[in-house]
Amino acid sequence: MTKVMKFGGSSVQDAEKIKHVCSIVIEESKKSKIAVVCSAMKGVTDLLLSSAKIAAEGKTGYKENVENLLSKQEKAVNELMSGNFAQEAVKHIKEKIIGELKNLLKGVELIKECSPRTLDLIASFGERLNNFLIASYLKSIGKKAAYIDSRSIIKTNKQYTKALVNYEESYKKIKEKLFKEEEIPVITGFIGSAEDGSTTTLGRNGSDFSASIIAAGINAEIIEIWTDVDGVLSADPRIVKNAFVIPEVSVEEAMELSYFGAKVIHPSTMIPAFEKDIPICIKNTLNPSAPGTMIVKNPKPHSSPITGIASVNDVSIINIVGGGMIGQPGFASKVFDIFAKNDINMIMISQASSEHTICIVCLTDDAKKALLLMQEDLSDELKSRAIEKFELKENFEIVSIIGENMIGTPGIAGKLFSTLGDNGINVYAIAQGSSERNISCVIKKEETEKAIKVIHKSFLGV
Ligand code: ADP
Ligand code: ASP
Ligand code: MG
Repeated sequence: MTKVMKFGGSSVQDAEKIKHVCSIVIEESKKSKIAVVCSAMKGVTDLLLSSAKIAAEGKTGYKENVENLLSKQEKAVNELMSGNFAQEAVKHIKEKIIGELKNLLKGVELIKECSPRTLDLIASFGERLNNFLIASYLKSIGKKAAYIDSRSIIKTNKQYTKALVNYEESYKKIKEKLFKEEEIPVITGFIGSAEDGSTTTLGRNGSDFSASIIAAGINAEIIEIWTDVDGVLSADPRIVKNAFVIPEVSVEEAMELSYFGAKVIHPSTMIPAFEKDIPICIKNTLNPSAPGTMIVKNPKPHSSPITGIASVNDVSIINIVGGGMIGQPGFASKVFDIFAKNDINMIMISQASSEHTICIVCLTDDAKKALLLMQEDLSDELKSRAIEKFELKENFEIVSIIGENMIGTPGIAGKLFSTLGDNGINVYAIAQGSSERNISCVIKKEETEKAIKVIHKSFLGV
């Protein structure tokens, strides 16, 4: 069996956790041909991004962050290895990897500017440090392992911070590079490179996606995403204490859940896996014997009306209000064009049938940016009163119920709104995708937790 095992930041956050993960890897390597993909240690990507921000302000506070990062790495090396192995690893980390990071941040400090391209290069250090460390540890205990920098195998365009993958090129490189020797490849998640060799990233949480691309490239039989919970749960366990593991979910359900906020898997992970028909299993590093969740094309049907609940934090509503939009063909497309041209994502859209208002829901930062652009680009419509006004309403969240069983089942939306209404929770906007697998509603930020809890109780009984 060929499999890709991906370990997230909390599974590889220090020497003790790395040892544990490596014991899982070694056990598995006796039975299967495996490729390992790891994230940065938990918190390291955030630390790198905040260091870049400090440096771009021309301040030097980032130096302390880099020193902390270096001592964290040195400590991990010394707890994992000794003698020559430890010396070599520390030397490489200090001189090569951290040395390059220091130079880069110094450059950013001097020019007081950090482009998205430079930001991606800075963000790449977390995965590079950690996978180098893990591969070195495996070698130090006599295992055949190779550190692979995924910039040599994952090819993307230049949409820095959220690059788009060139699958054909990537699959070719993955096939050429992996499994040439009898060794376990230990591969950086999250990062890739553009045609000109510049470093790109696949977006926050992107190591899951990297694992899936690699699995598709080597035609693996399964992808395992190892994290710190027992699988995909019916809701975020930090909100619903009684959330339970869903043994099987469909690819579409997994996509909807992750797109609408379930952090346990990156939404794009399902794309290459689905195309090559590779199942994904979510497993818990802290509880390896638990069966986890399987994401498959045709899961066993669930007995409950919904499969899970997810939420997107920190969104805002933009209302475009005006009588002049009535019956004007092409008006909505003018609005959508502004979003598309400026790379701004709309999460939800609805237009009242009177056509008097178009309501768009986006992440708050995006909404603010979009509002300014619309005021500028639609100034003629404002002057002619075709648009009366733009309204920005902040401090909202999207709560979504998701599940295959919702398809063709009447009464689900009614039950959702009566549950919220009975608990005094006001709904500001609603959308149901045409797939019928998702109903999303926008509610006040301070009511989200309560909403998720009462919906969970009403639909899932606990
Ligand atoms: P990793 O570091 O392994 O990539 P993440 O922190 O990205 O892990 O994702 C795992 C976390 O996602 C869990 O610890 C859990 O708190 C959170 N989470 C949110 N919604 C869900 C859900 N529906 N099912 C499971 N975990 C969820
Ligand atoms: N280290 C990256 C992040 O924190 C990618 C990942 O962990 O998946 O976003
Ligand atoms: Mg993650």
